[in-house]
Amino acid sequence: MNAAGLLADQRRYFGTGVTRAAGWRREQLRALLRLLAEREDELTGALEEDLGKSRTEGFLSEVVVVRAEARYALRHLDRWMAPERIPVPGGLQPGRAWSQARPLGVVLIIGPWNYPLNLVLAPLVGALAAGNTAVLKPSELSPATSRVLARLVPEYLDREAVAVVQGGAEVSTDLLAQPFDHVFYTGGERVGKIVMKAAAEHLTPVTLELGGKSPAVVVGGDLRTAARRIAHGKFLNAAQTCVAPDYVLTTPAAAPILADALATAVRDFYGSDPSTSGDYGRIINEHHFDRLVGLLDGGTVVSGGRHERTERYIEPTVLRDVDPGSALMQEEIFGPLLPILEVGDLDEAIRFIGARPHPLAAYLFSDREEHLREFTDRVQAGGLAHNACTIQLAVPGLPFGGVGASGTGSYHGRQSFLTFSHVQPVFSKPTRMDTLRLAYPPFGPVKRRLLRRLL
Ligand code: NAD
Repeated sequence: MNAAGLLADQRRYFGTGVTRAAGWRREQLRALLRLLAEREDELTGALEEDLGKSRTEGFLSEVVVVRAEARYALRHLDRWMAPERIPVPGGLQPGRAWSQARPLGVVLIIGPWNYPLNLVLAPLVGALAAGNTAVLKPSELSPATSRVLARLVPEYLDREAVAVVQGGAEVSTDLLAQPFDHVFYTGGERVGKIVMKAAAEHLTPVTLELGGKSPAVVVGGDLRTAARRIAHGKFLNAAQTCVAPDYVLTTPAAAPILADALATAVRDFYGSDPSTSGDYGRIINEHHFDRLVGLLDGGTVVSGGRHERTERYIEPTVLRDVDPGSALMQEEIFGPLLPILEVGDLDEAIRFIGARPHPLAAYLFSDREEHLREFTDRVQAGGLAHNACTIQLAVPGLPFGGVGASGTGSYHGRQSFLTFSHVQPVFSKPTRMDTLRLAYPPFGPVKRRLLRRLL
């Protein structure tokens, strides 16, 4: 089916009003939960095939996140759908005002390869909860997950409302040429610009979930705990995570201790040779492998550094003596290289972050209240976390999205529902008493005086 035909079919179906009913929305969310529960093996198997992701990691970082989103939506749907009363000022009485969320229509969701299941199905939860139909375009770089979604989604969800389209840039281009009611894109900045331009042709609103260089600042607290949490948030999915800490900023005194503690944490998690660990993933393809190996000379490797192209394996690697002008510090790393840079104090770290494009996430490790406050007040990023990284995405009530270069719009929890809804205001007045007469021209001196007194 071509893109225009698919859109026309879904638009017709949307027009029947079936998807607006709360009952339909619930059924779809429950069906999605059944899909996740009954076909977990096929789903995590595909993730393993695409990314060498262990089944436990696939379950925790993909299946569980979508499941939590769907359960949260089911629990709150009634409240989200309920009209919200707005007070009417005296001069406009009698009358009632309220706002009510209604679905946008037919939405397009374009996903990336790094969490190919989560980043297609989590936005779908919002689209369905809000009563839309949806076209899903998973990434061609994670073909096993793409295939399994194309096979299972129509088995569980309403086929007239949800379609999976497989393919690469040409397929996306065709879809983007159509007048969807919303485009939800997750991926890199380059394609983000293409998506926004294409959507602008139809004045289609977009959500862009992009990436960026997310810093982790370590200026206090227990360094070994910080190292373990940073290593966990970074090396999950072989560090191909949009909110993974990209680099560390710490003081000269803490840097060597932190570097050692990171090496220890890596050994504790993945053993002395992570290539043999079933819990450590692989780089998505040779292109990214070569790019990452090319970044290694931006600093001195203090732990890790081994790599094997045939397996697309790169060891968790910590670097020091990093040149801030090197490619390592210019582009989003999106792989298991962790540079440690030194700053005098928290203030210098905050200024370092502020001098660069707004990151998707920013992390602070410290146990001093004034540090937490200062960082939270001064750092502009998509999201912040204190003494934790990456796992903040598992809190379904927290909105998730970027700002500036790291994206526009957000989702998760109620924010997903709002992203895929139009909050429509309604003002309703009876005709029986025309209290507006005072506002109609002509305005003589008596009317003017009265109006001034009333308003
Ligand atoms: P990708 O290459 O898989 O591309 C994403 C999607 O864009 C794919 O479906 C692809 O088919 C489509 N695409 C590619 N070229 C296109 C074109 N010319 N026109 C239209 N569509 C096209 O993924 P990627 O961009 O390599 O993803 C990695 C990036 O995504 C990183 O920057 C990462 O930080 C970011 N990311 C962000 C989030 C988030 O939630 N904010 C999550 C994951 C990844």
